[in-house]
Amino acid sequence: MKAPVKSSASSSRANSIATARPAPRANEREDGLFAQLAEHHHEQVSLYADPAAGYRGIIAIHNTQLGPALGGTRVWNYESDEAALTDALRLARGMTYKAAVAGLNLGGGKSVIIGDNKPGRHVESLGGRYITAEDVGTSTADMEFIRAETSHVTGLMGKSGDPSPVTAFGVYRGIKACAKHHYGADSLAGKTVAIQGAGNVGYHLAGLLYKEGAKLIVTDIDAGRVQRVVQEFKATAVAAEAIYGQQADIFAPCALGAIINDETIPQLKVEIVAGGANNVLAEERHGDELEAKGILYAPDYVINGGGLINVNAELHGWSLERAHNKAGEIYDTILRVFDIAREHRIPSYLAADRLAEQRIATVSRVRQNFV
Ligand code: NAD
Repeated sequence: MKAPVKSSASSSRANSIATARPAPRANEREDGLFAQLAEHHHEQVSLYADPAAGYRGIIAIHNTQLGPALGGTRVWNYESDEAALTDALRLARGMTYKAAVAGLNLGGGKSVIIGDNKPGRHVESLGGRYITAEDVGTSTADMEFIRAETSHVTGLMGKSGDPSPVTAFGVYRGIKACAKHHYGADSLAGKTVAIQGAGNVGYHLAGLLYKEGAKLIVTDIDAGRVQRVVQEFKATAVAAEAIYGQQADIFAPCALGAIINDETIPQLKVEIVAGGANNVLAEERHGDELEAKGILYAPDYVINGGGLINVNAELHGWSLERAHNKAGEIYDTILRVFDIAREHRIPSYLAADRLAEQRIATVSRVRQNFV
């Protein structure tokens, strides 16, 4: 059963404005619901509640100029509905930029679920403008359940499956590019890497780094996951809050976002921040602060694009090997980002945005001309 969700705050505000003076048109308001979409040029936000199934979810579509909006479904216990919306908007925008820099013909979207249920009907209601996949809190098995209600889902069992090995490979290649840029050689043998989060991506990344001879420090709030990395890859375990102050060469955030912030930056002793997590910077100014401290930052959506490449491969019937090779190209893309940063004297997170925006503009122009 579908029940449209209304914002009581915005409707009462609209009523009070209506009694005082003629209501402004939606696109004239600076603090209404549409202002949140306009801020980063989002196209669409869809709220869907299914009381019978206990489902409450938000799907944000940021941009479909390159193709249908693709992005995972995140299940999280948000503090408030506003926090869930903000997360969906940020993550959807990140997906647009990620697809653009990865050279894929996909747009950006994201689905967040408040509580725990499957968004199949919600995804289906968008008629293909949004395609979902797994993310934090969901698995390939969940994608099979969603498949029962919609065909607009990727990352299925027996197909491209769990994207995290390809994501981790892309992150590994990105870390090597950082080393190349910073140290002049891309070998990670003997380098110390502090990994935050030993989940799907963190675990596979640890394996690749270990194979190359890197020394590992690891933390996770799940002790079992930490133990696995300690036993298999000889990592040193540290407490969750201690990860930021580790004496290491590279910090690889592979848990949740916003962990580069006012509290953590002063603790950092590393030369490079490069990991798989989305939205690593709490705010853009934290990217400037890393730059000011002389810490090289690999923009999150560039370095963690491997998972998206993997699901794109499933959509287009690519082999796993082709997906792997494409994720390997993240090495060159990261170096290109650092070149743009140097050329324009801008921080790397802005250089990545420029690269993404250039591709969206170029492809859109070509389509205007030839389609
Ligand atoms: P996951 O849930 O398998 O792993 C995350 C791990 O982080 C868990 O083990 C969790 O216990 C741990 N964690 C949570 N809070 C922590 C904290 N405060 N300190 C230490 N550890 C903490 O998720 P994942 O698939 O490995 O994804 C990790 C990150 O990478 C997420 O930000 C995700 O959005 C991003 N990402 C994943 C993929 C992919 O292919 N899976 C692709 C792109 C980006």
